Amino acid sequence: MSENIRIVENATCTFCGCVCDDQVLTVDVDEHRITKVKNTCALGRAWFTEHGIEDRPPALIDGREATTAEAVEAAAQILAEAKFPITYVLSDTTSEAQREAVAIADMIGGCIDTTTSVCHGPSGIAFEGVGESTMSLGEVKNRADLIIFWGGNPAESHPRLFGRYALTPKGMFTPNGRKDRTAVLVDVRRTKSAQVADIFIQVKPGKDFELLWALRALVRGGRVSPDIAQRTGVPLATLEDLAERMKSCRYGVMLFGMGLTMTRGRHFNSGALLALANDLNEFTHFVAKPVRGHGNVTGADNVVSWQTGFPFGVNFSRGYPRFNPGEFTTVDLLATGDADAAMIIASDPASNFPKKAIERMHEIPMIVLDPKETQTSRLAKVAFTTATYGINVPGTVYRMDDVAIPLRPAFDSPYPSDLEILTAIKRRLQELLAEKPGRRPYGDPRRPHAALPA
Ligand code: SF4
Repeated sequence: MSENIRIVENATCTFCGCVCDDQVLTVDVDEHRITKVKNTCALGRAWFTEHGIEDRPPALIDGREATTAEAVEAAAQILAEAKFPITYVLSDTTSEAQREAVAIADMIGGCIDTTTSVCHGPSGIAFEGVGESTMSLGEVKNRADLIIFWGGNPAESHPRLFGRYALTPKGMFTPNGRKDRTAVLVDVRRTKSAQVADIFIQVKPGKDFELLWALRALVRGGRVSPDIAQRTGVPLATLEDLAERMKSCRYGVMLFGMGLTMTRGRHFNSGALLALANDLNEFTHFVAKPVRGHGNVTGADNVVSWQTGFPFGVNFSRGYPRFNPGEFTTVDLLATGDADAAMIIASDPASNFPKKAIERMHEIPMIVLDPKETQTSRLAKVAFTTATYGINVPGTVYRMDDVAIPLRPAFDSPYPSDLEILTAIKRRLQELLAEKPGRRPYGDPRRPHAALPA
């Protein structure tokens, strides 16, 4: 056992959207691994301790070992030649790398998309239509006295959400912690999270929209038929009680998950919940926020939004950004066969995308950046081994409440970061595209202006 032990305080866990930045890591510097983690949950502990340095080549081209520089050249050539290239994911990397990936997609007139398109994409669409009464998790901790979890199971997916922000911590206006809060869980089944809720409301699968719309009616003083119990599985008296609690609380929060956004109704469900939060502000302070999964998926939404005006599923082929989920989202572009090259950053879509999309991944040249070997990296024409963000790489990530958090890496990696690789690919692409009339890179004064639609 090495003697060279280092303690890293206030390290940031990037496993889930809670982005807990109070971890204390014990690092064996010589062996390049984290041996102990304090203040974490089981998921965070696994994230930190299982990301040591693996003995892998820096890059593979067609399965053969290559240097990073050779792989950068091969990747740039693929992207420069492609007619409809897609860049996917960005949710498990730094915002600095995300920014570079958007610049590349812009430069090559391709698509940029993130895991949001397969998780809270419907919420992103609903935000545009309804707006968002929002907050930080610090406000929830200090002020919230009614917390409603809708369509999620944070006890297992975000284990420290309850203890750090939402349920038990003592806050400025919640000095007695758990005793000062009422917790409600609305879900289709009784999960582990139901054990901590004061009120559990079981809704029939696919009936969230009806339930939310009935709550809107009750909150606004309308009448709801007792038939609602048959439709949704929730008795009218339970709904009336919840509506009354919502109107009379001091500071209410709805934290919603994919059980709401990825079931029947999708963006209508998210929109109904956001509209309910807006309605409640006639009576009290009420906010709503999606509970996000990947460590920096919120950063991906932020970066793609501030670079393009849209959160995901963006296409640059006309020289300006266009947003069209269902057309420019990665699953759809692969399944329809439109995409002719793909750059996948820190994700493994080959392990969870639909069959047709995966079949297309077998056919097109793929560039994959990942610290580990995955099903997707095995399909890659060019595969980079990268350093892990947060453990080896500094930078910025966004917590699920849009608060930017700095990373404090534990030890160095011999592999480059996503940002370094993407920057190198971008530089080489600039040279390659400058030689191609009509495909000049962004920032090149000779770049033709895109024709705007009539
Ligand atoms: S709750 Fe999420 S961010 Fe916090 S320690 Fe656990 S896995 Fe990491």
